Amino acid sequence: MNPANRRTVIAGNWKMNFTPDEATAFINEIKPMVAGKDNCDIIFCAPYVTIDAAMKAAAGSNIKIGAENVHYEEKGAFTGEVSAKMLKAIGVEYVIIGHSERRQYFGETDTTVNLRTKAALANGMKVILCLGEVKEQRLAGITNEVVAMQTKLDLADVDAEALKNVIIAYEPVWAIGTGLTATPEQAEETCGEIRKVLADMYGADVAETVTIQYGGSMNDANAAELLAKPNVDGGLIGGASLVASKFTAIVDAAQ
Ligand code: PEP
Repeated sequence: MNPANRRTVIAGNWKMNFTPDEATAFINEIKPMVAGKDNCDIIFCAPYVTIDAAMKAAAGSNIKIGAENVHYEEKGAFTGEVSAKMLKAIGVEYVIIGHSERRQYFGETDTTVNLRTKAALANGMKVILCLGEVKEQRLAGITNEVVAMQTKLDLADVDAEALKNVIIAYEPVWAIGTGLTATPEQAEETCGEIRKVLADMYGADVAETVTIQYGGSMNDANAAELLAKPNVDGGLIGGASLVASKFTAIVDAAQ
């Protein structure tokens, strides 16, 4: 388990799942199951059209609702995009940026991830910044180089003050939605490597305070072992965040 100087964060990434009514039903189901479990922050990141219903259902509970992406411009001719100002206007505090599905299917690069991160931070939001290697990179033994490069590029021009609002989600791409999970040792090693890069960029004291989650097929069966590692400060959870009992078991593993 991580030291007391950083917060454990268990976040769900609903991806393209849940209509507003389904999100309301899900939050109403899970709310009593996680009530009082305050040793970690609990967040669900929802599709844009579902955010409002989820926030209403979560009001007054220990569950926070976030978004799954944000554009870097404030407004303008960017069809299909949503700005940080818009998300702020409806009370969204957290946003996932740089998820591998955005990078893989929608052309996100470290440059756009950096722009989106800076825009979200400038608007007072908290960012869950996703990064991680693909299978070929792990097999080639260059995982550390890949995550170091992503960390440096994605956080370029983000100062130590702004970094207080950044959570990093280490998500090996080969483990996302595949049922393959990094071993606790692999997760610990790579999260530790990311922390070393942060120490080079911001100093060791600052690096020690950054929450670094693991994501990639985390579930009720493997969460306890992963979360027991000192550099794994929580989880970003896809599939298991759609099932109240599984997600609650992960929250319990973090208590
Ligand atoms: C994710 O979408 O960030 C994720 C980790 O998905 P899953 O838990 O389904 O692998």
